[in-house]
Amino acid sequence: MQGRNTQAFRDDCHRRIVELDLLFCENGNEMRIKIASVGEPVLRGEARPLRPEEIRSQRIRDLIEHMRETLLDAPGVGLAAPQVGEPLQLAIIEDKAEYQAKLSPADLEERERSPVPFHVLINPQIHLVSPPEVAFFEGCLSLPGFTGIVPRARRVLVEALDHLGQSVSIEATGWYARILQHEIDHLRGTLYIDRMWSRSLSSLENYDRHWKSKTTAELRQAFEDRSQKTASTRI
Ligand code: ZN
Repeated sequence: MQGRNTQAFRDDCHRRIVELDLLFCENGNEMRIKIASVGEPVLRGEARPLRPEEIRSQRIRDLIEHMRETLLDAPGVGLAAPQVGEPLQLAIIEDKAEYQAKLSPADLEERERSPVPFHVLINPQIHLVSPPEVAFFEGCLSLPGFTGIVPRARRVLVEALDHLGQSVSIEATGWYARILQHEIDHLRGTLYIDRMWSRSLSSLENYDRHWKSKTTAELRQAFEDRSQKTASTRI
């Protein structure tokens, strides 16, 4: 990662350090983009669409490259531009096989999770094909250390532009559909905590200790049913 383009991006980031109060940082010779955490206003705004002429610009190509480095470094399976301080309708996704190695075949099957190659989504529109009724714990790089159960649609259709500005149509099922919903939510200022079963919020430490080994039915019993009982009690 050397050369004029990197230098231009670095200069731009130095300006932004002043403007955005340390959303970016440097780590040795390799610059990493610091990820905005919950509470940053940029995570709650509506990101703007990219204009066609912007998509192939050096600035956007550099942004995508640095977001990819940041996602690998985190690591994570998706990152949206607002998470790096850019209120733009741009997100990247990559679910590597090595990230799935710790999950049992049964867990992978239940989540319908399989590797997704790196790709870029620009100005996406999402349609939920099924209701949001598949519930699993998920996390977010902007809320480090926590996880919560989020009901999501099992199947979605996404229309978007790719990194070259060409139209792409994606039909996704299972975990990939979940990632798409999570990342596109970021472009609308929505975080998973807005959609989760609020009683399920857990530190990762307590998730490992108490909830990781529970079945989906047990988790529904523990969190979903109780919230319904609370609602009916109020009536
Ligand atoms: Zn997120």
